[in-house]
Amino acid sequence: MFKNLSIFAVLFAALVVAGCGGGGDQAEAPAPAQEEAAADTAAEGIVIEANDQLQFSVKEFTVAAGEEVTVTLHNVGTLPKETFGHNFVILTAGADLEAFATEAMGNSANEYLPTDMSNVLAHTALLGPDEEDTITFMAPTEPGEYEFLCTFPGHYGTMRGVMIVE
Ligand code: ZN
Repeated sequence: MFKNLSIFAVLFAALVVAGCGGGGDQAEAPAPAQEEAAADTAAEGIVIEANDQLQFSVKEFTVAAGEEVTVTLHNVGTLPKETFGHNFVILTAGADLEAFATEAMGNSANEYLPTDMSNVLAHTALLGPDEEDTITFMAPTEPGEYEFLCTFPGHYGTMRGVMIVE
């Protein structure tokens, strides 16, 4: 009698363990939702914020040579466009950023863009508080570093960065 009870207890324990194992397998989350989220992020492109502290939120980003690039500049500052506007201007390879900025800041009639645009790869409009502008352009086919800046007078010292083409 005592021996039979022991065998029953062991069998019962084994059934409980098997039951728990089966339940655990069903708890795994499906994978497809994550792939969809990643695709959406890529479609939005690069989002850069410009603020009253003379900073771009992104100072470096990487793109593939020859691919279409989308950049959105959002001015999150509160100061007026006339005295503290922001833009995003990306230059061609080897352009002299300081010489470019010096020439650009004198051209207030053209939103601080120079008359000679041969060194400009792409640019946004000059933005006031809470304004944003989205631009799309083709990344150069030549790998390297391409500098960008805000050309509003006095801003390029800190409002500058690099697009890396791989
Ligand atoms: Zn600026």
